[in-house]
Amino acid sequence: MQRRNFLRTTALTTGGLLLAQKEMLAALWQQPGFKITMLTKNTGIFTEKGGTILFVLGKNGIVVVDAQFPEQSQHLIDELKKKTDKPFSLLINTHHHGDHTSGNISFKGVVTNVLAHANSLTNQKNVAVAQKTEEKQLYPDWTYGDVWNTKAAGEKYSLFYYGPGHTNGDSLVFFEDSNIVHMGDLMFNRRHPFVDRTAGASITNWIKILDKAMEKFDKKTTFVFGHAAEGYDVTGKKEDLKAFQTYLSNLLEYTSTQIKAGKSKEEVLKATEIPGSPEWKGDGIQRPLTAAYEELTTTT
Ligand SMILES: [Zn+2]
Ligand SMILES: [Zn+2]
Repeated sequence: MQRRNFLRTTALTTGGLLLAQKEMLAALWQQPGFKITMLTKNTGIFTEKGGTILFVLGKNGIVVVDAQFPEQSQHLIDELKKKTDKPFSLLINTHHHGDHTSGNISFKGVVTNVLAHANSLTNQKNVAVAQKTEEKQLYPDWTYGDVWNTKAAGEKYSLFYYGPGHTNGDSLVFFEDSNIVHMGDLMFNRRHPFVDRTAGASITNWIKILDKAMEKFDKKTTFVFGHAAEGYDVTGKKEDLKAFQTYLSNLLEYTSTQIKAGKSKEEVLKATEIPGSPEWKGDGIQRPLTAAYEELTTTT
């Protein structure tokens, strides 16, 4: 009797569990992995995996800044097609890294033009050749040097290049009517940045780029960030740029003091936080410390 009861209970439990699992899975499918947040009536951000995407539903078409990975950009394309019948006019890459350009391929035959800084195109090609992923790329067909200033899809927009920062090909992408700037990976909100020295990065000049951005744009400007630490926003204001700039200065200052004190690279890398910027938490502190150490000890 007891045994039968036990069996029945088990069977019920298993059945119940399966049902619960099924419901849970259904909920997961219903709840997409991506998130679209509108910033204004016609601009929004898409987040799923990789660098934050900004899109503008323009008067005559859609402009997209950055593309994450192929699966993610396909999600974005599908969602935007539900919002408007207008064509995809332009895709802009803030820089070449795979978490911003791998998804370009989903726009093949979909978007009219792809635009990036000339160095971003060179870097994208170099990485694709080295990794043998050339067929998986959609390269920019438009590139520029210092400033690009025109209209796309009926929207006034500009790209600015202020020299090496996170790489040697980072653009600031400004949409004038909505007063929104995509900073790409020139902004890591409260998160240790990746400093790509293999692509010509410079922390010293990165600090100057942030100065130029703070001079050029106003208090109301909304900045879109490539990445943010968990719990922090991927958009923000000038104060966030200032905080990140201070972090980069603190990083250089700390590393330089350690070098002057005769510390080895290994000793410098033991730091668990950058003095003065404790809000930059989490893993990855070795990356900026290594980059700072190399930048300060390499004579050019
Ligand atoms: Zn990134
Ligand atoms: Zn990057």
